[in-house]
Amino acid sequence: TSRTLVLLKPDTVRRGLVGEVLSRYEAKGLTVVAMQHRTIDASIADQHYVEHVEKAFYPPLRDFVTSGPLVSLVLEGEHAVEVVRTLNGATDGRAAAPGTIRGDLSLSNRENLVHGSDSSESAAREIAIWFPDL
Ligand code: ATP
Repeated sequence: TSRTLVLLKPDTVRRGLVGEVLSRYEAKGLTVVAMQHRTIDASIADQHYVEHVEKAFYPPLRDFVTSGPLVSLVLEGEHAVEVVRTLNGATDGRAAAPGTIRGDLSLSNRENLVHGSDSSESAAREIAIWFPDL
């Protein structure tokens, strides 16, 4: 069993999709082991997205993820990292497959509802940022 860090980004909260998205992870069999509703500042965004801070798409991404409350959570289960990324779908909602969270619910490359850690190393790094007491 493993853990992964998931964000339900501000578009998920604004659109009233927290329950819908969380249900998909739970229905799959993953367990919520930590969850928090909060609005982050730019320094948390920069830590989380450290690998993207120099990229052209980052300033609008930072504005977006700090634009309102989001929900951060840790999910646990068999192959949690890979399973969450499969459920999330491709980064660009326009290209994501039907049946995935982004494929069914997003038409955007930036406002794509969710984040999931991309490896167990990333999960450990990100969990330490969002849930330092875990
Ligand atoms: P995440 O890491 O959030 O699960 P991902 O791994 O599918 O998504 P990354 O390449 O790590 O995607 O990009 C991180 C986030 O940056 C994306 O989820 C999206 O919100 C935003 N993003 C990525 N590429 C672009 C782009 N070309 N234009 C606008 N936003 C982008």
